[in-house]
Amino acid sequence: MSNIAAPVAALIEEFSKLPGVGVKTAQRLTFFVLRSPTDQARRLAEAIMRVKESIIYCSRCFNITETDPCLICSNPSRDQDIICVVEEPLDVLALEKTGVYKGLYHVLHGAISPVEGVGPKDLRIDELLQRVGSGPVREIILATNPNFEGEYTANYILKELKPFKVRVTGLARGLPNGGDLEYADEGTLGRALDGRRDL
Ligand SMILES: [Zn+2]
Repeated sequence: MSNIAAPVAALIEEFSKLPGVGVKTAQRLTFFVLRSPTDQARRLAEAIMRVKESIIYCSRCFNITETDPCLICSNPSRDQDIICVVEEPLDVLALEKTGVYKGLYHVLHGAISPVEGVGPKDLRIDELLQRVGSGPVREIILATNPNFEGEYTANYILKELKPFKVRVTGLARGLPNGGDLEYADEGTLGRALDGRRDL
């Protein structure tokens, strides 16, 4: 790409680092930006910077937020004694879209994966156990992804929760196997929440 103007090459390179974006798409995005009005390009750049500068992790649930505690943790109309455990902030978005769930969340930021060298200590599992130990918690919903790492992580947490004598449930079956929670449609996810079973 040595015969391409350096700023253009630089933007193509940055776009191609995004997940799921190959060089072809990176080039298309770059030329889209090049052709768009300056205002639009500036809004894109500013939105990217705002995400980096103003987004923090909630100190209770570890979801992404602008305020600490986050809007969900600090909402008094949410059930404070039910915690839904998910792998990623995107899973919170997916579950919120169903409109079914009124409790709190706990975001692990990943799943245990021996292959990728991710152990329990790399996730927010200790913080979850502290939450369960320090507050009245009626139910923990383990909503990790329906794949090997997700099931393994749920089983690990289930074992760790045993001493707390708290009700632990899992989403009903019927979610596409091997997939990610975030890709399940709202109806399926809502039904999986409604039909949750004791573990
Ligand atoms: Zn929170």
